[in-house]
Amino acid sequence: MKTSIIGFPRVGELRELKFATEKYFRKEITAEELEANGKELRKKHWQLLVDQGIDFIPSGDFSFFDTTLDTAVLLNIVPAKYQELKLSPLETYFVLARGYQGEAGDVKALAMKKWFNTNYHYMVPEIDDHTELRLVGDKIFTIFNEAKEYGITTRPTILGPFTLLKLATYHGKKRAEDFYEAAIIAYAQIFDRLADLGCEWFQIDEPALVLDLSPVEVQQFKALYQKLLTKKGSLKILAQTYFGDVRDTYQELVDLPFDGIGLDFVEGRKTLSLLEEYGFPKEKLLFAGIVNGKNIWKNNYQDTLTLLERLQSVRHIVLSTSCSLLHVPFTLANETALPKEVTNYFAFAVEKLAELNDLKKIVEDKNRNKDLLSTNSALFDQERFSRNEQVAKKVKALTKADFIRLPALTERAVIQKEKLNLPILPTTTIGSFPQTKEVKQNRAKFKKGEISEDEYTAFNKEKIAECVAFQEEIGLDVLVHGEFERNDMVEYFGESLEGYLFTEKAWVQSYGTRCVKPPIIWGDVSRSKPITVAYSKYAQTLTDKPMKGMLTGPVTILNWSFPREDISLRESTLQLALAIQEEVLDLEANGIEIIQIDEAALREKLPLRQTDWHSEYLDWAIPAFRLVHSRVQPTTQIHTHMCYSEFADIIQDIDNMDADVISFEASRSNLNILDALKAIDFQTQVGPGVYDIHSPRVPSVEEIEGTIHNILNKLPIEKVWVNPDCGLKTRGVPETEASLKNLALAAKKVRGGV
Ligand code: GLN
Ligand code: ZN
Repeated sequence: MKTSIIGFPRVGELRELKFATEKYFRKEITAEELEANGKELRKKHWQLLVDQGIDFIPSGDFSFFDTTLDTAVLLNIVPAKYQELKLSPLETYFVLARGYQGEAGDVKALAMKKWFNTNYHYMVPEIDDHTELRLVGDKIFTIFNEAKEYGITTRPTILGPFTLLKLATYHGKKRAEDFYEAAIIAYAQIFDRLADLGCEWFQIDEPALVLDLSPVEVQQFKALYQKLLTKKGSLKILAQTYFGDVRDTYQELVDLPFDGIGLDFVEGRKTLSLLEEYGFPKEKLLFAGIVNGKNIWKNNYQDTLTLLERLQSVRHIVLSTSCSLLHVPFTLANETALPKEVTNYFAFAVEKLAELNDLKKIVEDKNRNKDLLSTNSALFDQERFSRNEQVAKKVKALTKADFIRLPALTERAVIQKEKLNLPILPTTTIGSFPQTKEVKQNRAKFKKGEISEDEYTAFNKEKIAECVAFQEEIGLDVLVHGEFERNDMVEYFGESLEGYLFTEKAWVQSYGTRCVKPPIIWGDVSRSKPITVAYSKYAQTLTDKPMKGMLTGPVTILNWSFPREDISLRESTLQLALAIQEEVLDLEANGIEIIQIDEAALREKLPLRQTDWHSEYLDWAIPAFRLVHSRVQPTTQIHTHMCYSEFADIIQDIDNMDADVISFEASRSNLNILDALKAIDFQTQVGPGVYDIHSPRVPSVEEIEGTIHNILNKLPIEKVWVNPDCGLKTRGVPETEASLKNLALAAKKVRGGV
């Protein structure tokens, strides 16, 4: 039995690649130095895989920004506007990733999108009718050779043509299938060159196979590979899938002359039954994704062995991960603050390599390696923590009524109108104000113990007072306190919840040089004390206008954490919802009349297959949000916020969250969503962002007026709010103040005109 992984966290043990790349961006190191950094990291990572006994070692999973972009660039999928800048290949690569403004011209970056159901983001390849798909790069070959120099024969990996062309956006008349012929020629050339270099296996990633595919697409996939695989010669091809099962193409996959097929047994709910039902060809290798590449919990060896027993009819099994290890942190070795009794339960990327190796040993010789198995089993046999009976009881006791807020939305709107007495087109912001150096320093000093809690709080209060005064001065209607005490919208709440754990160095790449450090849900979640009440209450004393309380919703908290595996996501989310509900009720009891519950990441775990959307996710995620606010008074106005506007396809579910008001990103998406809102007669009041906060650009009064008028063309005025796209924490003070002034003025002018 052999072991394999799909990919490894390229960012490095201590985010070395991030820091080197950012230095390169700041021109502190040269392109050669950056390349040298990359080379060193690759060497280190390959060596690590060798040392841990991994048999199939990938190459090409390394990237300076994103592997989808690497594949696009390798195949000349680079729009003319980037080529025309006439920059070096490396510079062009980073311009595609980040945009460019300078002597050579002015171009935006490619669009960035969520990579399937992960928090990783890929650069979306752009294709037009002039795109000439052909092999132009050689990185895949040079890197293969590089490893060979160290005596390591790697398995190069690349994104497959079917997925690549499916994920691309098309600006002309041509579509994916118009590029299949060219793709076959290009991939065949890669086959030839790799074979010449002494490569044995080549991994082609086709994660699009886990999506819902139409019969036409299935045929296209089949025809594409029937042709392509005639060119593989002596090279062995692994078709690698992940993030789900391949129920639409299983038969095609096993019938095509692939030499290996990589299937996900962790997220692929139907993988095992597909195999059992349709069999697996004797001559092929099954790369069985059994170690979870997305979560941080140790593998339960006994469960895995039981699974492998059910695969006995498969002649050649390679033990592998369910997806690339890119989605988990690098190593546990640097987590010194957490006790061993806790870290014992975790496996990050490096530790997952050891798990594969353990499993291989156990399968090969159960007797000689029974200690490995028994140590692992002992862990799962014992109680990991003592359960919070009260939380379990509360979740159990929930009834339908707990998820329904009364009276109904329209009736509440009337009551709230009277109580709050807001003008038409009320203005507000999404919550955070610029996190200046001083704001961050204040938090850092407090964390290090350099200032007392009183000093820390006094500074925040001063900032809140400034922030409130500014909002009053420019005439906003619903104010916020500014969130100066918060580092991150999930971490801040997690820190005040029982059941949460935090790591020191457990970073995961989110996109390019950006990494996130998700907290871990370790046990039953509950709220031990009020979290936001003191600051919100204080802020309300500074103004007669309504001060909006600011919370993060349960679904977002769950989606941006590493979840438990011993209870369902649904149950974890309900625990979170009950904890946040307590906070909502406390805010209300302390005189806060408007409470915003952010669900920035609601879409994050939406299943990849539409058929699963409701049964697997929305049927509990939306009620969990309703649970948070179902017990407030009719007079209390509940807001929610989402950081995107891609919810046309789940629009009814968004309305069913039963918030009184929702704000969302809209300025960049040309307000497309408004048609969808109109089409279903969306009930919730809406604040489509009237300007883009992701750029320092200050929108003029006229421009915002224009945007408001566009909105009013589609939506009834009594339902519309005026606000920016998202929180302002990443912005500077000058542009924030200028933009908000213009926003308030624009709203006033439009009001005056109607
Ligand atoms: N209230 C948060 C803020 O303004 C919302 C952040 C977000 O949507 N990502 O920062
Ligand atoms: Zn947002």
